[in-house]
Amino acid sequence: MTRILIVAEHTGGKLNPATAKCVACASKIEGAEVDIAVFAADASAVATQAAALQGVKKVLTVENAANAEPLAAVLAPQVAALAANYTHVFGPSTTFDKDLMPRVAALLGVGQLSDIMAAESAYKFRRPIYAGNAIVSVEAAADKKVVATVRVASFQPVAEGGSAAVEAVSVNAELPTHTRFIERSAAKTGRPDLQTAAKVVSGGRAVGSADNFKIIVGLADKLGAGVGASRAAVDAGYAANDLQVGQTGKIIAPELYVAVGISGAIQHLTGIKDARTIVAINKDPEAPIFEVADIGLVGDLFTIVPELEKALG
Ligand code: FAD
Repeated sequence: MTRILIVAEHTGGKLNPATAKCVACASKIEGAEVDIAVFAADASAVATQAAALQGVKKVLTVENAANAEPLAAVLAPQVAALAANYTHVFGPSTTFDKDLMPRVAALLGVGQLSDIMAAESAYKFRRPIYAGNAIVSVEAAADKKVVATVRVASFQPVAEGGSAAVEAVSVNAELPTHTRFIERSAAKTGRPDLQTAAKVVSGGRAVGSADNFKIIVGLADKLGAGVGASRAAVDAGYAANDLQVGQTGKIIAPELYVAVGISGAIQHLTGIKDARTIVAINKDPEAPIFEVADIGLVGDLFTIVPELEKALG
C-alpha cells in the first residue's frame, strides 16, 4: 500500500499553492493514499484549507509552540517521526523544502529524490537534469522510504471541494536546540510572489539601470503581476537577487510571462519552460527568446513598454 505524507507549506495562516501541486503529483500514483501534515503553533486555518484539497485522505496537525515559525532543523525530526507510517514523504521543491527534505531523508537513512516532474509509478519518476535540458527516469528502491521534492512548475494544483478528516497528532521527536527562530525579515512589496504568481514581468540587461527597472515594475503593477529579472540584470544590480529567474534563480510556471530586453539564454529559458504564454519584447529580431515566445514584439523596450501600459489603461 502506497501511503504518501505531504508536508504543508504555509505562511501567515495561508496554505502555499505549492502544496496543492504536490497533491496533484502524489494523486497520479495509482492507489496511493495521500495525507497532509501541518506543523504550526495553531494549525486550524491551514488544516481547513488542506482538508479542502481534492484527493487528500487525512490532514494531520502537529501543534507545538516550536512550530510557530517553520525551521527546517526543527521540523525535520518531527517529519521523520511521522514518516514511520508512510512509504513516501513529499514536499514542494521550494526554497524551504529544499532545506527540509534532505534533512528528513538523512534522518530516515535514505537518499533524497529531487524535482519529480512526473510519477510513472510509486517508485518510478521522471526528473530534469542538466538544467532541464534532459529528462531522466529514475527508480527508487521499493523496500525503502521515498523522500522527494516535487517540481511545482510541472503540476497544476488540485481543485478544492474535498473534505478530508483533520486529526491532531503528537510526535515523539527530540527537537534541536542549536537552531531557533530570531526574526523574519521579508520585503513587503504587496506584489504577487514570483514563484506562485499567475503573471510575471521580467527585465533584462537592456533595462540599463536600477532606476530604469521601474519601467518593469510599473508594467507588472498594471498587470497585477510578479516581477522577475534575468541574471545579467541581477548581476548588474538593477534588480534584487531573489528576483532572478532561471537555472540558478527561480523556476516558474506562470500563465503569462513577459520578457523585456532579455535575450533568451538557455539558462534563463530553463526557468520559464512551463510558462503558458510567453511575450517577448526585444529590439533584435534574431534574439533567441523569439524562438520560444508565443507573442513577439520587435522594438525598443523604452517605447513599447510605456505604450503597453497606456493601452492597459
Ligand atoms: P543579454 O543576453 O545581454 O540580452 C539583452 C537583450 O536585450 C538582447 O537580446 C538585446 O537585443 C536586447 N536589447 C538591448 N537593448 C534593448 C532595448 N532598448 N529594447 C529592447 N531590447 C533590447 N541567466 C538567467 O537569466 N538566469 C539564470 O538563472 C542564469 N543562470 C546561469 C547559470 C550559469 C552556470 C551560467 C553560465 C549562466 C547563467 N545565466 C543565467 C546567464 C545567461 O547565460 C545569460 O548571460 C543571461 O540570461 C543574459 O541576460 P539578459 O538576457 O538580460 O542579457
